[in-house]
Amino acid sequence: MKAFILAETEAQSRALCRGARVFADDVEVISPGQPYEGLPADVVWQIDYPADGMAEDITETVIELFKAEVPDRVLVEPTRRNKLIIGRVAAALGTSVIPDVIEFTDDGAVVHLVYGGLAHCREKALGPTAIFLVNTSAFEKSDDTGSPELRQLDFRAPKHAIKRLNMSDNERSSVDLGVAERVVGIGRGVAKEEDIAPIRVLAEKLSAELGCTRPIAEGEKWLPRETYIGVSGAMLSPDIYCAIGVSGQVQHTVGINRAKKIIAINKDKSAPIFKQADLGIVGDLYKVVPALTEILS
Ligand SMILES: Cc1cc2nc3c(=O)[nH]c(=O)nc-3n(C[C@H](O)[C@H](O)[C@H](O)COP(=O)(O)OP(=O)(O)OC[C@H]3O[C@@H](n4cnc5c(N)ncnc54)[C@H](O)[C@@H]3O)c2cc1C
Repeated sequence: MKAFILAETEAQSRALCRGARVFADDVEVISPGQPYEGLPADVVWQIDYPADGMAEDITETVIELFKAEVPDRVLVEPTRRNKLIIGRVAAALGTSVIPDVIEFTDDGAVVHLVYGGLAHCREKALGPTAIFLVNTSAFEKSDDTGSPELRQLDFRAPKHAIKRLNMSDNERSSVDLGVAERVVGIGRGVAKEEDIAPIRVLAEKLSAELGCTRPIAEGEKWLPRETYIGVSGAMLSPDIYCAIGVSGQVQHTVGINRAKKIIAINKDKSAPIFKQADLGIVGDLYKVVPALTEILS
């Protein structure tokens, strides 16, 4: 079986290569621009696009590549840019895309999340090329390396390209929660933005990255958007997830289902997060967080 990978980050490229290797004997990576070193793949297809263009402009080139190579499966990291590319590729090939895939089963089917994570659906893609948006936690993290053959593709300019006029920095998290080993997640139990500082200290003591629920990122805008966890945010698979002032609504907990251990701190003993937690601390985070930090110091 031949599997193609389209991922933006190095960590996800490696994780998807490793995951694809379970069912594919030929793993090939599409790399817009300079490829990552030593990916555990058989082939890397490099597509250089114009410096003032957009990565999305590789779509026509990818369509031609897939027509020639006819991959059985395409595994895509579900970033905004990749979704734009692969949606157009699927339309051109007359195939469909299965989103939110969390598992590939031995019989060639996949399991994916539906109804905002409330249910799982098992599906089988028909047709020669099946495309999947794969949740970043679907496969184990991987440090595997390889020596793939590098093939350069001629860039096929789109009929109506997008020209980049300029670019400026924006505050953005450099954290990739999908591959973090420890994550502290904060929720609306945190009353004020300045109250995040002591929780950051606790996270540092735990060598953990800081994430949050959607209202903290999208409502309050206290943390960058890419740090919120859940069905419409980051999907985690850490060793430890520590939820602080998080109620545990399903849209959030879908993103932490694959955590090996969940610790929850909440002042409401009937908060749903405790149903999923391995260790629960019923208490006021404003007392528990300093106490834990003190112990860890
Ligand atoms: C289509 C859709 C998609 C969504 N996607 C996501 C998603 O991807 N991710 C996501 O997170 N949400 C998502 N949501 C929102 C989700 O439904 C919940 O509203 C959200 O997760 C709740 O966030 P929270 O736990 O921070 O807040 P709340 O539900 O308000 O919970 C706050 C908790 O803090 C506790 N608390 C308060 N004060 C203290 C204190 N001093 N000490 C200790 N505990 C305290 C309370 O007891 C409570 O349990 C989505 C919603 C919809 C409709």
